[in-house]
Amino acid sequence: MPPPVFRFAPSPNGYLHLGHAYSALLNFDRARETGGRLLLRIEDIDATRCRPEFEAAIYQDLAWLGIAWEAPVRRQSAHLADYSAALEKLSALGLVYPSFESRAEIAKLVAAREADGPWPRDPDGAPLYPGNAKSLSAGQRAQLIDSGAPYALRLDMAAACRQVSGLTWNELGEGPDGEQGRVLARPEAWGDVILARKETPTSYHLSVVVDDALQGVTEIVRGQDLFHATSVHRLLQALLGLTEPIYRHHGLIRGTDGRKLSKSDRSTGLRELRTAGTSPAGVRTAVGLG
Ligand code: GLU
Repeated sequence: MPPPVFRFAPSPNGYLHLGHAYSALLNFDRARETGGRLLLRIEDIDATRCRPEFEAAIYQDLAWLGIAWEAPVRRQSAHLADYSAALEKLSALGLVYPSFESRAEIAKLVAAREADGPWPRDPDGAPLYPGNAKSLSAGQRAQLIDSGAPYALRLDMAAACRQVSGLTWNELGEGPDGEQGRVLARPEAWGDVILARKETPTSYHLSVVVDDALQGVTEIVRGQDLFHATSVHRLLQALLGLTEPIYRHHGLIRGTDGRKLSKSDRSTGLRELRTAGTSPAGVRTAVGLG
């Protein structure tokens, strides 16, 4: 049997905090315990929020923690052609359509629909896409695109779920409601998710499944905040014919106020802790891995 493959996949849009340290250390420890490989992936497709100094800090902070990863590091911004190829495959299945509403227009549409009762929200609490761009004709789409209008490319969730259904995944960790073992995927809860935008030819969901498959990742260890997104990932894997990894979602490290840590909260930043004299062993203890 080839060794298991793990990955830690941070986005360089801020400095790492204790929550990232916990996730990275869990991956590192699992890889060591199982004789597996640990990969590092930089998820930098959002050019407006990612910065080189945050990426440099990721390497420094992980090395300071004593974590070793394989070279080369995969930087998503260098692999846009891989995501475009996957998007084309989904388009060829008839599952992708452009929508043209701005964020403000979407908010207005949701408000209008809520006049008739609550409008459904995705597991992250965002309203499902309320527009009817799916019913635009090919001519209307072409005309809007040619006019230079910004657009998002969305997955036609109903059509996708007609092509593959009954998907599950193997959960070795735990979901937010204690889900374990074989979990039934519910991608329909996310509505017509965005797969790419005019100015960015991919999205988190699309690039994460493409990369996990291309890199041969076999066990995904990540925070419970991504548990429900796994439903979308399983759907995309099935549509694209990609292999199914196993998942181990872990609990989140919370601040003293009980809230999820944020990259802007200085008190739990690895750089701040290091400057204040905390050792790598102290970080392990702080996240319960000491
Ligand atoms: N890049 C994502 C984040 O920083 C993690 C992606 C994943 O582990 O699937 O939250």
